[in-house]
Amino acid sequence: MFKGKEDFKQAFCEKLETKLGKQVDMATELDAYRALGSLLKDKISKNWLRTNLEHEKSQQKQVYYFSMEFLMGRLLGNNLLNMQVLSMVQEGLADLGLDLTSLEESENDPGLGNGGLGRLAACFLDSLASLGLAGHGYGIRYKYGMFDQRIIDGYQVELPDHWLSKEFVWEVRQPGDAVEVRFGGEVHGVKDEQGNLTFEYSNYDRVNAVPYDVPVAGYNNETVNTLRLWSAEATEEDTLLRAFNHQQEYNDFLAHKRSLESISEFLYPDDSNEEGKQLRLKQEYFLVSAGVQSAVRAFERLELPWSSFSEKVALHINDTHPALVIPELMRILMDEKHLGWEEAWEITQSSVSYTNHTTLSEALETWPVGLVRSLLPRIFMIINEINERFCEMLWNKDPGNFNRIASLAIIADGQVKMAHLSIVGSYSVNGVAKLHTEILKTREMKIFYETFPERFNNKTNGITHRRWLMHANRPLSQLITETIGESWKEKPAQLTDLLKHKEDTSLLEEIGTIKQNNKHSFAEFVKENTGIVVDPSSIFDVHIKRLHGYKRQLLNALHIMYLYTKLKADPTFDMVPRTFIFGAKSAPAYHFAKKVIKLINTIADVVNNDADVKDKIKVVFLENYSVSLAEKIIPATNVSEQISTASKEASGTGNMKLMMNGAVTLGTLDGANVEIYDSVGNDNIYLFGLSSKEVLEYYRTGAYSSRQVYESDERVRNTLDQLIHYSPFSRGETEFQDIYDSLVTYNDEFFVLKDFASYIDAQQKVNQDFQNSNQWNKKSLVNIAHSGKFSSDRTIEEYASSIWGIKPVSTVR
Ligand SMILES: *Cc1c(COP(=O)(O)O)cnc(C)c1O
Repeated sequence: MFKGKEDFKQAFCEKLETKLGKQVDMATELDAYRALGSLLKDKISKNWLRTNLEHEKSQQKQVYYFSMEFLMGRLLGNNLLNMQVLSMVQEGLADLGLDLTSLEESENDPGLGNGGLGRLAACFLDSLASLGLAGHGYGIRYKYGMFDQRIIDGYQVELPDHWLSKEFVWEVRQPGDAVEVRFGGEVHGVKDEQGNLTFEYSNYDRVNAVPYDVPVAGYNNETVNTLRLWSAEATEEDTLLRAFNHQQEYNDFLAHKRSLESISEFLYPDDSNEEGKQLRLKQEYFLVSAGVQSAVRAFERLELPWSSFSEKVALHINDTHPALVIPELMRILMDEKHLGWEEAWEITQSSVSYTNHTTLSEALETWPVGLVRSLLPRIFMIINEINERFCEMLWNKDPGNFNRIASLAIIADGQVKMAHLSIVGSYSVNGVAKLHTEILKTREMKIFYETFPERFNNKTNGITHRRWLMHANRPLSQLITETIGESWKEKPAQLTDLLKHKEDTSLLEEIGTIKQNNKHSFAEFVKENTGIVVDPSSIFDVHIKRLHGYKRQLLNALHIMYLYTKLKADPTFDMVPRTFIFGAKSAPAYHFAKKVIKLINTIADVVNNDADVKDKIKVVFLENYSVSLAEKIIPATNVSEQISTASKEASGTGNMKLMMNGAVTLGTLDGANVEIYDSVGNDNIYLFGLSSKEVLEYYRTGAYSSRQVYESDERVRNTLDQLIHYSPFSRGETEFQDIYDSLVTYNDEFFVLKDFASYIDAQQKVNQDFQNSNQWNKKSLVNIAHSGKFSSDRTIEEYASSIWGIKPVSTVR
């Protein structure tokens, strides 16, 4: 790497000169960031090549993780950390009068994902590399990532995220590895010389898929894997080989080119409703076709028989979005490599594995048959054949059971069901937390589970402790090392060693001091960015995640209204000052979610400006929740709000990031909260609300009446009435009528009112317990100590051994 600080300084100055033609004293922070980033990438590239050579030589099985989203966050700090040069670089830069933290802030946050699903993919890449495993990401290089959220007059406004504007220093364009992806056209069956039926295509549109490779460096080892992001471009034939005789031809050409390139133009900003748009289906097939072609090419370089494909290649699909991997691999094996159906099916099915992320029915992906047939004619034929063979198999097993076949079929009611395709075409289906997997097996996918019980398994999600603890919270990380030694960094399960020290009052005090310092810095940030002054000794109560009905930001907001009303009525009401912090993006077309954002901002406006309560309650809505913002909020959090309607949150990963930083969870028994509870025990978590069983039972029987709760609980009624009657919140407007109606008139789909009373009680208990700082810090410690289980290293070790069947290549660790 670098021989030392002086060597680094010299290399850095040289890079500034050669890349930018500048000297240190002329360089802006952005210049310095770009120079440092490219210098680091050069250094990483040595190990990148070495890793690739090692993979080829050892013929190690390669995992390709297909995901429509990779929510990477900034890479500079993480790469410095993983390359073990962070402190040295920081000191070297300081010698040159540069501040590393400011340089890090110059990097645009590559937000190529909506939320949890994309962030999981990013954590997995970090763990794969850090464990020395041969696993790579395949995604799309969207020109515009997740929109930039601004709050104007309390409303969400979406601005395009032009993240490439500052140059993305980590990527390497690889036009030599481009592949062609085809859409539309016609398919013809023709007999070859041996009389076998083969298929040819004509009149299709072609798109050039050009990869941009991003190195993914492991922590303290020499592994560098690849995140390969595909960009859509017009092919050379379509551009260079055209003559333009008329202006009209040129205009047509431009429109055609634009339409091809629009495939990788932007990320769909909705994380839970499938919109069913043609462009989205194009994006999915574009990723899948480019990725499978590229994986097949890599396999062919090994010169092995096709029968060993699944020993050398694993294709993993992150939710159903890349499910077309299944028919695409079939297509390539049959139409291009001339294998028969049976052999191609055997190979496909033993190579593909699938992760399910949701049981929300509106999020289960389906595509109209007509759209799939016209956009992807050959792929549609193959899906049809898979479906027919599958239905025949079901019939042979249980003749005459039409209902069963109808509910399992891949094509039904004019729709292609992507989850069904994913289960039938893969050898492994996993849920993302114990509870979620149980719900899949016993309810949502019960009959699939009965048909293929051996395919179903659980892999509880995790997060990388490198980004979320070692980098985001360096003081805490250092204190942990001083207390239990260094080895937890490579084996995060060893964080449990902290439990031996849980009666050590001076350690508990230090944990409290670090949290206090983090809160101070964060309060500065809040002041700079919002003008709101918050009290660092108040409880920092944090609710950060996508805005969605089931995540129940509304429950939190109504509780603040309740507290405010109580304080106004009784100014002597004793409570520890509390700062409620929100960060949340709504899908642009999600009307209800946008109303909730407006409500939270209205509450903030009322509460923060009321002299009677402003020393007791503050409300802060931070705009543009993103990975880099999360890294600032999480180390400063006392209370982690994980209050989804039980059974709705598949896992959650925000809950894990927060516990790892010593926040205490206030939550329902949902997703991975259940496993957090199992680990930390009753004294170190605040639980409330309906269980998933109760929720599912209410859905089944329809026995819930929100109006009954409204009528019988005065606290609920008083709070809700303020939404529609004249109050400081409604200001006589009808802005919040829709929210009121959803709760009272339309029977409160997410049980907000049902859980209101027990949420108040749990919050009251938090209020009480926080006053004993020694006890509170102990809860913090216990949460940190048990967070190692939620490192994505544990998750990836489980995927590696029980789904993919891979072992570390490099023996460095
Ligand atoms: C972790 C993370 C999420 C997921 O949060 P949940 O609380 O699990 O929904 C979403 N967005 C960003 C930016 C994250 O870092």
